[in-house]
Amino acid sequence: MTVPTAAVRSHALALPATELPAYVYDLAALREHAASVRHALPENVELYYAAKANPEPEILAALAPYVDGYEVSSGGELAHVGKAVPGRPLAFGGPGKTLAEITAALEQGVARFHVESAYELRVLAELSARRASHSPIGVLLRFNLPLSDGSLAGSSLAMGGLPSPFGVDPSEADEVVGLLGGGAYPQLELRGVHAHLASGLEAAEQVAVAESVVTWSDALAARHRTPLAEVNVGGGMNVDYASAERRFDWAAYGAGLARLAAAHPGLTLRIEPGRALTAYCGWYVTDVLDVKHSHGREFAVVRGGTHHLRTPATKGHDQPCTVLPVDSWPHPWPRPTARQNEITLTGQLCTPKDLLARDVPAPGLRAGDRVAFGLAGAYAWNISHHDFLMHPRPGFHFLDGARN
Ligand SMILES: *Cc1c(COP(=O)(O)O)cnc(C)c1O
Repeated sequence: MTVPTAAVRSHALALPATELPAYVYDLAALREHAASVRHALPENVELYYAAKANPEPEILAALAPYVDGYEVSSGGELAHVGKAVPGRPLAFGGPGKTLAEITAALEQGVARFHVESAYELRVLAELSARRASHSPIGVLLRFNLPLSDGSLAGSSLAMGGLPSPFGVDPSEADEVVGLLGGGAYPQLELRGVHAHLASGLEAAEQVAVAESVVTWSDALAARHRTPLAEVNVGGGMNVDYASAERRFDWAAYGAGLARLAAAHPGLTLRIEPGRALTAYCGWYVTDVLDVKHSHGREFAVVRGGTHHLRTPATKGHDQPCTVLPVDSWPHPWPRPTARQNEITLTGQLCTPKDLLARDVPAPGLRAGDRVAFGLAGAYAWNISHHDFLMHPRPGFHFLDGARN
C-alpha cells in the first residue's frame, strides 16, 4: 500500500474517465525530496541526476536547483537534456558511443566524458584533436571493479567485477592510465574514475562500495604519480517497492561520504542516482474496467497496463497501489464487484505477463473505481513497450504546488 499525496489524489479523482490512464507527477513532492537528498549530502559531494530514470523536461527542470549536473547515456539524452536544462553540466556515459554522438558531445561542451574502453578513449582523442579549441576534455575512466571486500556478499544485484560490457577491465587499468599520463593524448585530461557497480543497495552497502572504489582509485593514481581529482561512485540507491514508504537512508549515506571525503582532502566525490530521486514523485492512475472470477481467484482488469508501466514486469514485483473509490456508476447495467478480499490487477494486453499487482487487498473493488500505482516516477513510462497492441497513450500531468 502506498498513499498518493493530496494533490495527486484529488487530481486523479477529478480527471474524466476518458482521460485515463494518466501519469500524474507531483513536482512539489519531487522538489521536497530532492532538497532533502541534497541536504543529507556533504557540500563537497556533487549530485548528478541519471536522466535515463525519467527524462521528462518538467522533471529535469524541477531537479535543477538541487543537482550539480545530469548524467546522459546517449546522443538522444544529450540533445534532450541540453535543451531542457540549458547550460547545466552534463556527464556523458554509456557503452557503444557512436562517432556522431561523441562529436555532438564535444560540440555541446559536455563537462565529463565517462570513457568505457581503451578504443573509445582513442576515438575521443582523435575527434577532440580536430576541434578548433584546444581546451582539454575532462575524462573519467569507467572501471568494472571487483567488489571483493565481502560487504556485498548479500546483494544479488552487485554487478561489479562480473563479466560485462561496461567499463574498462581492471587488468587494463595501468595500460590505459599510462596512455593518458604518457602524453599520447594531450587533448584529454584524466580527471579520475567512474564506477557504477550495483543497483538496489542500501546506504551502508553504498558507503562500502564508495570506499572500495576510492581506495582502488587512490592506489591507481599513486602508481602513476598522478593526482586523483574526482571519483564518481555511480547510482543504484535502493527503492523498496515492497514497502513503498521506506526510503533510502540518505542521512547515513551522506555521513559515510563525509567520512570518506575527509580522509581524501582535495578529492571531489560525485554520485549519480536516478531511481531513488524520481521514483516517488510519479503515479500511474487508471480505472477498473472489469472484475472477474477465474478458477478460484479474482482479477480486476484496469485501463492501460504494463505497456505504460512496465516496471512490475521488468522487476518482477507487485507495483504498490492505492484504490480510490468512485461511488457513482452511470450505466444501466450492474456493476462488476469483487467478492474476495484480494484481487490481482492486470492490464488490457493479451498476454498473461500483463500483471501490475498480485493479490492486492481491495475487498469490494468495483468497475469504475480508480487505482493509483505509486513509485512510477522512474523507469516506468520511458522503459515501457508503448506500441504493443496499439492502445492510446496515457495523459501526462505535472502538478506544481504553486499552481494547484
Ligand atoms: C542507470 C545508471 C545510473 C542510475 O542508476 P539508478 O539505479 O537509477 O540510481 C547511474 N549511472 C550509470 C552509469 C547508470 O548506467
